[in-house]
Amino acid sequence: MFKNKKIFILGMGKSGVSVAKLLSKDNHILITDMKCDDLNLIEELENLGINVIITKDQEELFDDSYDYVVKNPGVRLDHPIVLKANKYNIPILTELEVAYRYLKEVKIIGITGSNGKTTTTTIIYEFLKKAGLPVHLAGNIGYPLCSQIDEIKKGDIIVTEISSHQLVNLDKFKVDIAVLTNLYKVHLDFFGTYEKYKLNKLRIFNNQDESSLAILNKNDKEVYDLTLNLKARKKYFSSNGDADICIKDDNIVLNGEKVISLSDIRVKGMHNYENIMAAILVAKEFNISNNIIKEVLNNFAGVAHRIEFVAKINGREFYNDSKATNTDSTITALKSFDNDVVLILGGLDRGHSFEPLIPYLKHVKHIVCYGETKERIETFALENNIDVTVTDNLEESVKAAYNISEEGDTILLSPACASWDQYNNFEERGDEFKKIVSELN
Ligand code: ADP
Repeated sequence: MFKNKKIFILGMGKSGVSVAKLLSKDNHILITDMKCDDLNLIEELENLGINVIITKDQEELFDDSYDYVVKNPGVRLDHPIVLKANKYNIPILTELEVAYRYLKEVKIIGITGSNGKTTTTTIIYEFLKKAGLPVHLAGNIGYPLCSQIDEIKKGDIIVTEISSHQLVNLDKFKVDIAVLTNLYKVHLDFFGTYEKYKLNKLRIFNNQDESSLAILNKNDKEVYDLTLNLKARKKYFSSNGDADICIKDDNIVLNGEKVISLSDIRVKGMHNYENIMAAILVAKEFNISNNIIKEVLNNFAGVAHRIEFVAKINGREFYNDSKATNTDSTITALKSFDNDVVLILGGLDRGHSFEPLIPYLKHVKHIVCYGETKERIETFALENNIDVTVTDNLEESVKAAYNISEEGDTILLSPACASWDQYNNFEERGDEFKKIVSELN
């Protein structure tokens, strides 16, 4: 708990605002951002006694009189205020850590990893909810934990996705069940080196003890090697080889017993089976039955924009994988299909190469492209003897893909590029894709 503290909050995103509101009851709060057009929000915060300052000169506002800094997880570690706080020995916290100090006798399930966090978190939440347990979904998906403190009661369960950025400033936060899905070379711009990124991921286990559980990917050698000496009990999942939970004869098998057949799972792809196995290990800690697990997985169509099934029109299946902003994610999507695919690629040009896709394009009968990268994608397709159609925007791409496709084909938007040349974010791009598809009939 925080009382009579002077707290500097950097960033007026959802998480910063929720921290400010929670802490404003008993503390002196200054919240700042470089930009905020939401005048109602500013007024609401000011009415709570919060000092709101919108300025490009944030450094000017900060001095050693503060007890804490709360920063948006995305704020870089070399931000002048972060450096100054370090110099003054002022603790830097993030929203999760603040919320944690208000919680008592709850069970926390935290999910981290380079890929699959949101999907795994969502499946765990769905299992627990279906089983009638008192569960709250918090973090990047759902609402910030700080905004849910009043609703959380003793004995409740919190399921929260924890990004690598959030892990940096966790201090006392204890995760009762930690899931580490996998490790890939990402966010190197933020962490500097892969080594630092990996070590930071291990912070999820920091406050665990013998009573805690770590759920780990045995098939990921780095995850396995890095977690050999944890204090927590360990349970492993594996898509390739023996583990507490693994795949045998097209079934998911837990300690030798079948839980569900892969054909009863609606989402596609080995990566999703990994997410599901991790989630089942969590569910089994709460003694959730195979029937409930089956019911959830029969219906779960994937999280929006992640290889999300959209519609079947005249024998063609449309999938929205707008979240795929790099070639790694597009490869994951391509591996999830074995029928003929018409692939829609394109978006912001970061100068990145499309070459990594080559081994996974055997079932791609046609590429349709648009956006800043369209010319480079056209050249790439022609060099690899794949038919290609160039268009100006997503709508034209979807229509072209539909015209080219035949019954039994998959039309997949998995653009391997960020959306920012034509959209504000990947969600907007995916929503537009779904709208265009819905208007095809
Ligand atoms: P995150 O929250 O970690 O970004 P998501 O669940 O949102 O992960 O999935 C984003 C993308 O990552 C998916 O569209 C898919 O391409 C890929 N992905 C998901 N789960 C896995 C996994 N277990 N292993 C590898 N890639 C995955």
